[in-house]
Amino acid sequence: MSGPEVEVVDGMQLPDEHRALLRPGEPVEGKEGIVHRLPRFFFSVASWPEAHRIKLAPHLKLSELMMVDSCEADLLLHQFPHYVPCAIVVLARYLESFRREADAAIFVSANGGYRSPAHGLSGNKNVHSWATAADIYRVGDSYLDDEKTIAKYAALADSLGPQVFVKPYAEGDDHLHFDLGFITMTPRECSER
Ligand SMILES: [Zn+2]
Repeated sequence: MSGPEVEVVDGMQLPDEHRALLRPGEPVEGKEGIVHRLPRFFFSVASWPEAHRIKLAPHLKLSELMMVDSCEADLLLHQFPHYVPCAIVVLARYLESFRREADAAIFVSANGGYRSPAHGLSGNKNVHSWATAADIYRVGDSYLDDEKTIAKYAALADSLGPQVFVKPYAEGDDHLHFDLGFITMTPRECSER
C-alpha cells in the first residue's frame, strides 16, 4: 500500500452501533455447516478523498473496492470513517496480477467490492464481507456480459492459482465474480486477545 498511512482499528473497540452492523470476529455458519469468522481488524478511512489517494496496488485505489450504494446500511454508507477489512490489500494484489495477465485495466462494479455483513446483497454469509471478493464488469474495452467473454477471463483468473475462485457463467450474468475465500488479516501491531 502506498500513500498516506491509514489507521487500523480493532472492530471489537468500535461503538455498539458499528459493532452491530460489522459483527467483528463473529462466527457465521454457511452451507453444510461450514463456519468462518467475520473480519475483526479494519482500515479506518476518513473520507472519499483519502480513499482515492490510497493505492493498494500500482493500478488500484482503495476507493475502487469500497463503492456501495443504498443497499448498504445507512450508518456505514453515510458516515465517515468507513471501515474496510484489512485483507482488502491481499485482494488488491491478486487483482493487480489479474490486470497484468489481462494486460488491460479492470473495473469493479458498485457493490462489487467490500460489502458489510449488513449490506442488502450480503445475505447470511458472503465472501464480499471479508473484502476478498470483487465483481469485475469490464476488462479494457470488453464488458463481461456474455458467456464467451466471462469464460475467457474466468480461465485467466483460474490461472493465477488454486486460491482464486471464479463463478462460472450463469444466464444473465453481467460480471465475473472473483474471490480468494475467507481470508482475515491481523496487522502485526494488533492483538487478538
Ligand atoms: Zn461477487
